[in-house]
Amino acid sequence: MSDNGTSEEQTPIRDVIVIGSGPAGMSAALYAARANLDTLVIVGPQLGGQVAITWELDNYLGFYEDLTGPEFVEHMSKHVQKFGAELLYDMVTGIEFDTAPEGGVHSVTCYGGTYRARSVIVSAGASSRKLGVPGEEELTGKGVSYCATCDGAFFKEHDVIVVGGGDSAMEEALFLTRFAKSVKVVHRREELRAGPLLQERAFSNEKIEFIWNTVIDKIGGEGKVDHVLTSRTDREETGRLDVTGVFIFIGHFPNSDLFQGVLEMDEHNYVIVDEHMRTNVPGVYACGEIADPVWRQVATSVGQGAAAGIAVEEYLSGLDAPRTSAEAELEGVGIDATPEDAPAG
Ligand SMILES: Cc1cc2nc3c(=O)[nH]c(=O)nc-3n(C[C@H](O)[C@H](O)[C@H](O)COP(=O)(O)OP(=O)(O)OC[C@H]3O[C@@H](n4cnc5c(N)ncnc54)[C@H](O)[C@@H]3O)c2cc1C
Repeated sequence: MSDNGTSEEQTPIRDVIVIGSGPAGMSAALYAARANLDTLVIVGPQLGGQVAITWELDNYLGFYEDLTGPEFVEHMSKHVQKFGAELLYDMVTGIEFDTAPEGGVHSVTCYGGTYRARSVIVSAGASSRKLGVPGEEELTGKGVSYCATCDGAFFKEHDVIVVGGGDSAMEEALFLTRFAKSVKVVHRREELRAGPLLQERAFSNEKIEFIWNTVIDKIGGEGKVDHVLTSRTDREETGRLDVTGVFIFIGHFPNSDLFQGVLEMDEHNYVIVDEHMRTNVPGVYACGEIADPVWRQVATSVGQGAAAGIAVEEYLSGLDAPRTSAEAELEGVGIDATPEDAPAG
């Protein structure tokens, strides 16, 4: 479908560039490549995205036997490449999107060069805020987690802590009480930021204990977490908690800096998309956690990626197909003339 028009200085014009190789980007790439689009996936700093650091994925439909995050990433990579998507191990450092209403050619710059395409799928994901204390990085996936929904079930009858005092921290603490023997919420202040209903539920849960005015200084353990060292924020006092799980919920942010001023975003910098995963720039789509402050799961990201891949295929087909005068007339009065055929599965 690509015209592959190339000049001496410039790379060919692809059909689609996918920014990011997490579940959303890989799913989008799969649908695009299977639709025979010339698809380039720019992998970014982490092949496979956040799921690459999960120790076991057991809530993705159909995979009910032991499956580690890295194994899932390998499956995703092989799958998209089998259908012709190309993986480029580089990172996007700049973008130039053509905002013309009729669509244009978009440029994406990486350390290794600039790539061009008629459409772009933005799936650069999101990142959890880190505590930045010793032990956190080394023990991530070995007791340190940023996702209770994902990892909670591995902590049956364990003593765990939750760090944070907002809605996510309370939701995740409540979720963890289904599995853990005890859940201590460690919060730097002496009151929560979470909404009143969540607070009430957390305060009335017998398994949850609150440790106020306290911060984590170090996460310790040989190969897996077995304790944390703490200090008080209101007086000179240090302490130690023997726990096997540390769930950190001090914030989450979309990796959307690159797109500031170009793509419309909400007040928390999540890219705004419509139900077709379209951004405000024609031919530029977004999916997964960069555009989703709510669901944040592999399954939901894969679903949004699939939608973006299908939508891009429809968009490019629309550009390529000569419009009938009836279609032009319908579009002129704001009626979507696109046939509602389901895409080939
Ligand atoms: C520790 C952990 C465990 C988890 N476990 C589970 C689980 O068991 N089940 C579950 O359903 N969910 C789990 N999740 C959540 C799940 O991983 C995410 O919902 C999912 O990965 C989001 O997919 P995504 O593709 O939108 O974004 P991400 O996974 O964040 O992927 C983003 C991609 O964009 C790339 N990127 C970023 N910046 C750039 C750039 N400048 N240029 C190019 N590429 C870029 C990254 O390299 C990455 O490939 C877990 C999350 C974490 C952190």
